[in-house]
Amino acid sequence: MIKTPPVARGVSPAAFPLATASDYTGRVVAPTKTSPRKRTVRKPPRPGFSSGSWTELASHGLRILQVPAFSKLPWLIHGFSTRHGGVSSLNGEKVLNLGFTGWDTRGNVLENRRLLQSALASDSQTLIALKQFHSDVVHLFDSAPAEPCRGDASTTTRPGLLLGVQTADCVPILLVDPKKRVVAAIHAGWRGTLARIARKAIGRMQMEYGTKPANLLAALGPAIGGCCYEVGNEVATAFISQFPNAAAWFDELRTGDEPNPLQWLNMMPPGHQPSPKNVLLDLRKANRSQLLDAGLRPQNIFVSGLCTACRRDLLFSYRKEGAATGRLMSVIGLRP
Ligand SMILES: [Zn+2]
Repeated sequence: MIKTPPVARGVSPAAFPLATASDYTGRVVAPTKTSPRKRTVRKPPRPGFSSGSWTELASHGLRILQVPAFSKLPWLIHGFSTRHGGVSSLNGEKVLNLGFTGWDTRGNVLENRRLLQSALASDSQTLIALKQFHSDVVHLFDSAPAEPCRGDASTTTRPGLLLGVQTADCVPILLVDPKKRVVAAIHAGWRGTLARIARKAIGRMQMEYGTKPANLLAALGPAIGGCCYEVGNEVATAFISQFPNAAAWFDELRTGDEPNPLQWLNMMPPGHQPSPKNVLLDLRKANRSQLLDAGLRPQNIFVSGLCTACRRDLLFSYRKEGAATGRLMSVIGLRP
């Protein structure tokens, strides 16, 4: 039974559940039930915005996605940003761009980050954003670094720090160990996924903090979906060579009557090169599988169904919009 999330301080959560949505296990996830509350603004449902048990926090024009299992921990702050709100101007539209990009000013990005923290009632926390480079580098923070570090995952037990990852198609993963009060934020594109960055971040939490993977909660936020993420066969081959169950993360391109290009992935005849076909990769499936391999329980993994490429009205997609798009940010931290 999914419990109604508690009301965050100073803002009203508004849930826009779909009728039903299934996660990657094929299990049907019942939509979150919310009881009407004072000051809760009921908006018409927007199909596809939040799937399954995800909820939306609406505050001053910002719309932030949250997971009830995380929200009910009173000492935890978390959220996945969307395009909405903010002071950046992108093709005449005001957007919440949270990454430093060529088309936007530093001042706008800093103001957008301040707005995000304000919406999450985490103004007093120190945001730690990494210089991401599609690596498997995991940082452990006891305090905020003087300069941004190069890496793609971070973890801490220190209250007052807010860990952030920026994405515009890649998978943002937030982890929390409720027993030891450890949090982590991970950026997983195909390179990071192939390098097992999620598995390595969990390993670091085990080693440094004594985290037991079975206690971990994980949230995989909006990312480019298996519907849209076309990759070359060299990417598929690299995954197949690394992960025994990788074939399940790929799908054929729906181009009519052509033969299924996945056949060569499973049964490549010796001495034959694969045909130069592209395939579709479901990065969230790949990362969910990695989390299960690490020892997480299936019921503790919450996967957003939103595709950044399909839902450019809500999110940013580098693949679809090019370099002149914004960056989403996913944040997690312990309250001071
Ligand atoms: Zn899509």
